[in-house]
Amino acid sequence: MSSLSLKGIRKSYGSLDVIKGVDLDIKAKEFVVFVGPSGCGKSTLLRMIAGLEPITGGDLNIGGKRMNDVDPSRRGIAMVFQTYALYPHMTVRENMGFALRFAGVAKDQIAKQVNEAARILALEPLLDRLPKELSGGQRQRVAIGRAIVRHPDVFLFDEPLSNLDAELRVHMRIEIARLHRELQATMIYVTHDQVEAMTLADTIVVLRDGRIEQVGRPLELYDNPANQFVAGFIGSPK
Ligand code: ADP
Ligand code: MG
Repeated sequence: MSSLSLKGIRKSYGSLDVIKGVDLDIKAKEFVVFVGPSGCGKSTLLRMIAGLEPITGGDLNIGGKRMNDVDPSRRGIAMVFQTYALYPHMTVRENMGFALRFAGVAKDQIAKQVNEAARILALEPLLDRLPKELSGGQRQRVAIGRAIVRHPDVFLFDEPLSNLDAELRVHMRIEIARLHRELQATMIYVTHDQVEAMTLADTIVVLRDGRIEQVGRPLELYDNPANQFVAGFIGSPK
């Protein structure tokens, strides 16, 4: 349950400025949702927070520590992607335990953490199956399970439900809300789905072309979008 602070965060690829100075404070246990058009920099921001992408400028603090140059494995963060690339030849149990095994965690401790995550996600009956024997929603639950077993302080979700059909998205949205209550972790969640944003978020951050356009509680943004652009994502139809 770490707080995060982004100060003047920038990212350039060569001469292309992609993130142009982002300031944002996120409280411990807060559920923050990023929305914005394709290409505005949502994934880039998450990848910088996770340490998967070097930060060009500014300060990133997690849990009060400067993290700009800290190894991804030491940031207390786990990321869940849109395409849940499970290892096809490993069972659910092995997929969930892999990162821990890789990190040298003892076998019985791995078993304990995998069983706990499986309980939280109702994956217990599926632990010995292979990914190809699972539905899309079950696979995505395994992907979330892989994040949970690491006991991160911060979860980053990059459009985790956009490959699922509408019915399953609703179900998984409720699951993620429950997960947030149960784990009491800080969560940053990228989505295109206005309903997901409105129902999951404590705070919504609207991004546009590498900058923050508006930050607020869902109903604040819904009732008082700063401009047409924000209204297009989250505002009430006028
Ligand atoms: P979003 O997730 O909001 O759709 P991204 O963070 O993926 O946006 O991308 C933001 C911008 O950065 C886009 O213009 C994209 O083309 C560019 N970009 C992302 N990754 C790279 C890269 N490795 N090299 C060059 N440009 C990149
Ligand atoms: Mg993206």
